[in-house]
Order: sequence, then structure tokens, then C-alpha cells
Amino acid sequence: MSAKKQLYEGKAKIVYATDDPEILLTYFKDDATAFNAQKRGQIVGKGEINCIISSHLFQMLAHQGIPNHFIDCPVPNQMRVWALRIIPLEVVVRNIAAGSLCQQTGLALGTVLKQPLVEFYYKNDALGDPLLTRDRLLLLELATPEQLEDLQKLALQINHHLSDFFRQCGITLVDFKLEFGINHQQQLLLGDEISPDTCRLWDNTETDPNQRVLDKDRFRRDLGQVEQAYQQVLERVLSLTGSR
Ligand code: UDP
Repeated sequence: MSAKKQLYEGKAKIVYATDDPEILLTYFKDDATAFNAQKRGQIVGKGEINCIISSHLFQMLAHQGIPNHFIDCPVPNQMRVWALRIIPLEVVVRNIAAGSLCQQTGLALGTVLKQPLVEFYYKNDALGDPLLTRDRLLLLELATPEQLEDLQKLALQINHHLSDFFRQCGITLVDFKLEFGINHQQQLLLGDEISPDTCRLWDNTETDPNQRVLDKDRFRRDLGQVEQAYQQVLERVLSLTGSR
């Protein structure tokens, strides 16, 4: 398999074409951004860590019957994936109030939600990824009503499996972001990554609200020990999956 043309460079990944039009190669970068790229930096080793964590989570989800784009991880910071036409939506699932939910609703940080909340944001940097209503999403034809129902259902199933997995790692899954796309066979697949960049993860062995943070909030909020937190998540994931 030879990597060829660069198709796209995003904030955290570069996507390359391969000899097979149905297969892409994604390269995970150490670059970190926050607040719509107003804050930039590097998290040393992040590319490898996020690629390996994502690979294990995608494989776990595939075993649970959640279709996703993961093929394999030929080198620690590179993932081969099925080519998708990405739906321009950020599907956020929340179990505990944090981040923009607190800022926009006044809910206190750490409030346990009675049931998981699924939200759709418009994946559009120029507009600042705004929160969408169902009607706006349909107005913009970002998904069909049927796709919307499938996305909602898949997001809740993924939340169930991920929450369970992280619980076994001694970690609380506070919230996370998913992206989906359509493959060459017109099937809806989970894409992108699932990592401390895209999830809020709290260490169950810590009660201090800053100490417990094991995700990108350490970078966003200048909490320090960013690399160590990502490494901690990787080690716990590997100790549960028992490989690499
Ligand atoms: N998230 C993400 N990419 C984004 C926006 C959010 O991965 O562009 C993740 C974020 O890490 C968190 C969840 O989605 O786990 C909810 O984020 P929120 O809406 O609270 O926004 P934030 O506070 O991160 O701006």
C-alpha cells in the first residue's frame, strides 16, 4: 500500500489517497487547536496516541455491530479507513454537563443528565460550528429525516458502548463528538476519530475538578500535564484491550 496524493489537511489529521479509491490513509498530527483554532499548540506524541486509542475503540465498536470506517493501523500514527463522503455535522452526545452546554444553559459543570443528550452542530469553521435545530438541519439538507433518525439511534448506541468501555477503564465519559459519512456502497458509517481530542474523559480515581481531566480540556484550559493525561488514557485502553 503506497500513500499518494494529499487530499485534505485538517486541524488534527492529513488525509491521503491510496491506490484503491475506496481506501484512504489518515495521518494523525501532534498539532492541537481549540476555540475554533484561535488557540494553537502541539501535544507531543498525540498523533500516535489518538490513532491507537481510536483504532481500539473503532474495533470494539465494530464488534458491537456499529459500522465504522476503520480498516487497520499500519503504523502507530496512521490509520487506513474506508473512504466516506462526510456528512457536515458534528454529532455530540452528552452524559454530564460541561463545556458549551454549561455556557449556553447555565447548568452547573458536572450535572448528571437524566438521559443522554444528542445534539447536532453544523461542521462549518467559517460559521463557528453553530448548534442546529432539527428544522435548520433539514432546511440546509445536511441529512434526510431518515438519516437523522439513524444518526440519533447510532449516537445513543455508541454512547452506551463507549461509556461501558471507559467505565471499565476507571474513566467517566462526560461527552464526545462523532462524525459520520456515506461509503461507496451508500452505507452510513461512523468516521473521524474517537480520542481525548474529541471526548471529555474524567478519571474516576480523582475528585478534584481539574486533576480528574484526562482530555483536551487540559490544553484548552492550560491545566498542564497534557501529554501525561493522553498517555494515561492510552495505557488504560491498552490494559483493557490487552494489546500493543
Ligand atoms: N468537540 C470536538 N470538536 C469540536 C467541538 C466539540 O471534538 O469541534 C467535542 C469536545 O471535545 C467535547 C464535546 O465535543 O467532548 C462537546 O463539546 P462542547 O460543545 O462542550 O464544546 P467546547 O466546550 O469543546 O467548545
